[in-house]
Amino acid sequence: MTTIYERSVPGRRATALANLGRSEQEVLQAVPGELRRRTPPRLPEVSQPELVRHYTALSRLNYGVDTGFYPLGSCTMKYNPKLHEDLARLPGFAHLHPLLEEEEVQGALAVLWELGQYLKSLAGMPGVSLQPAAGAHGELTGLLLFKRYFEDRGEVRTKILLPDSAHGTNPASAAMIGFQVVSISSNARGTVDLEALQRALSPEVAGIMMTVPNTLGIFEQDILEITERVHKAGGLCYFDGANLNAYVGRARPGDMGADVFHFNLHKTFSTPHGGGGPGAGPVAVSQRLVPYLPVPEVVREGERFRLSWDKPKSIGQVHPFFGNFLVAVRALAYVLLLGDEGLREVSAGAVLAANYLKERLKGTYRLPYDRMCMHEFVLSGEGLAEGIRTMDIAKRLIDYGFHPPTVYFPLIVKEALMIEPTETEPKEVLDAFAEALIKIAQEAKESPHLLKEAPHGTPVRRLDEVRAVRQPVLRMPWEQAREDVKCG
Ligand SMILES: *Cc1c(COP(=O)(O)O)cnc(C)c1O
Repeated sequence: MTTIYERSVPGRRATALANLGRSEQEVLQAVPGELRRRTPPRLPEVSQPELVRHYTALSRLNYGVDTGFYPLGSCTMKYNPKLHEDLARLPGFAHLHPLLEEEEVQGALAVLWELGQYLKSLAGMPGVSLQPAAGAHGELTGLLLFKRYFEDRGEVRTKILLPDSAHGTNPASAAMIGFQVVSISSNARGTVDLEALQRALSPEVAGIMMTVPNTLGIFEQDILEITERVHKAGGLCYFDGANLNAYVGRARPGDMGADVFHFNLHKTFSTPHGGGGPGAGPVAVSQRLVPYLPVPEVVREGERFRLSWDKPKSIGQVHPFFGNFLVAVRALAYVLLLGDEGLREVSAGAVLAANYLKERLKGTYRLPYDRMCMHEFVLSGEGLAEGIRTMDIAKRLIDYGFHPPTVYFPLIVKEALMIEPTETEPKEVLDAFAEALIKIAQEAKESPHLLKEAPHGTPVRRLDEVRAVRQPVLRMPWEQAREDVKCG
């Protein structure tokens, strides 16, 4: 594909400016000398159709869940109903100013309040805050709640226990708050080793952070035992709820002993994500943490809603105004659209699709934990063929028109391929994906160069995975741009 600079021909223009009745020179003179650029900007010069073609061609290079299957493990890349976008664009929501008076935003407060009620009910927990802007931000908020809780009780607890099957953001959040991270090893079944847990418990332990189900896609069958032991030792239990797609509407973290549970609204409750756009990571909390929740809270008084700051022990505000409000609008739409029955179908479909794919692939690829999975599962590319790595498999999948799954995560599986199909894909797509992976396994043995040199059909071929990190070129373009706009 040509760049827009390669299409550039001096003198071509994409727009025609209105005739101001003044020459360019006259207009230039109107700008004070010291504000004028020394050199003209280096912009491509193209006609309007060329410009449109350029950006349209670029957009077609993009891959998203609207163009194909996106089995990115841990990300719940499900299809996002387009109705949500209509609702989030309603002028009454989209044009709200965050500084409007409560009286003028009753509808928006009602949305937040109502979503909060549903989230509490789905979590089986008595308190909620919609402020956190993402899952990791929910973790940060939840651990601040832990910290404030122990401060309030005059206890000094400095350690957070983390199963080695937890998501990477969990230890990162714990470390950011200043907790010492203690890793708990998994057993051969891919779940928390109870003995290891018991050995790690002490009066210094503030609590445990668990991804439920864990990043192997396996549910901790001893979860009640785990939370009971942690509570007995005076600690609290954090559940990372990014994987709620596995049991939404069917099981409640509150019933399993969670003290904090974060939702990833952009995952389970279907807001488009993956491009770094806004998400939301509301936290639900158990009774003992309710006094510390962020302020303000939306409270309902009869038919009116208001923001309450009346929480003397609160950790304060973790996001300005109302959090990422339009994500909450989409989540509420999703909950209302599906209802109880629909949400249960979501988790049933997600678990069924994952188990179906797992069974289709386990004869071809190594399955380190061969047991019933939840909404995702982890294969290994190890031992497929001499010299073939998981990265080669992932790159070859692109040639077959699929977005590769998550690779090299979780860390406890060598050469990991983490596959999350979600409930929104029909069986034919799952079959096509399985067949592509089976074909690739055959190619790995018969013509390994096809994998080693993949992808073949993309504008850029195999990228150096680490060079951008090891030798970042951050300065040059900016320095150049600054040079270009030097004035006077
Ligand atoms: C995605 C994810 C997170 C982080 O959530 P963000 O919204 O991306 O900050 C945490 N834990 C798990 C298990 C996840 O899949």
